[in-house]
Amino acid sequence: MATLKACSALVTGANRGLGLEMVKQLLEAHCSKIFAACRDPDGTNSEALRQLAKEHPGVITLVQLDVADPNSIKESAKKVGSLLGKNGLNLIINNAAVLPQKTMWTTTVEDMIHAFNTNVIGPLFVIREYLPYLKAASKASGKPGMSCDKAAVINISTDSSSMGIMLSSPEPFPLFPYSISKAGLNMLTVYTARDLKADEILCISLHPGWVKTDMGGDQAPINTRQSVEGILSVIGSLTEKQHGGFLDYTGKTMPW
Ligand code: NDP
Repeated sequence: MATLKACSALVTGANRGLGLEMVKQLLEAHCSKIFAACRDPDGTNSEALRQLAKEHPGVITLVQLDVADPNSIKESAKKVGSLLGKNGLNLIINNAAVLPQKTMWTTTVEDMIHAFNTNVIGPLFVIREYLPYLKAASKASGKPGMSCDKAAVINISTDSSSMGIMLSSPEPFPLFPYSISKAGLNMLTVYTARDLKADEILCISLHPGWVKTDMGGDQAPINTRQSVEGILSVIGSLTEKQHGGFLDYTGKTMPW
């Protein structure tokens, strides 16, 4: 598979789990401007990311971004915009998410609002606030077609958002607000793909596999390294053929 050659990328939820590993592997892929966004860059949860940024000044920029707060998204976009040149931003990875552990019967209004704010409304406003930079990148690239090296949005989704899968699944985990919000994220992918087609900005949903992280737990069959190697390999090979699609970290098409 092709390797990713994006020169600038924004990763949300970059301080731990899959987001942190994405920053590490984007660095290995020689991405020259990595905007590592997290809600508390000075907090204890961001220590590993701070260390990494310190070791790679000028390449990794820490950005304060709480995806559940539209003002924070706006402010972060202003900061990133001031550091980007006329070549814009090639890649957004909407990775930050929450998983309130609730069933259909235990979910509260607050759980649903929390899941939707973080998992759907956050990615929507990230796309909207950063859109001028994606458009600039698409224009500046001069390449025909679509690719993540040019301009793209990757929405990190989950197999548990798939209606096809969940209908026949015994659902051993309490994923109710999570699954429904991520199904909403998938529709955001479809709308984004439709509305940004003319600007040649690629957009897909991507399931990273079941991965050992705080969210995935210790029983998960793969680690962050394996998942993100797959993710970067898959997104490095995307073209307009996959635009508006739903894939997993091995490149397999997922059922909606
Ligand atoms: P983790 O729980 O390990 O990490 C979640 C990340 O999201 C943290 O960086 C967290 O930051 C951040 N986050 C949560 N809320 C906000 C917010 N309001 N603003 C900014 N950042 C926020 O999860 P994973 O790394 O496992 O998951 C990454 C992505 O992969 C998610 O989209 C998840 O749904 C998806 N996924 C994961 C699977 C798995 O098995 N691990 C399976 C399928 C999908 P903080 O430290 O501040 O809390």
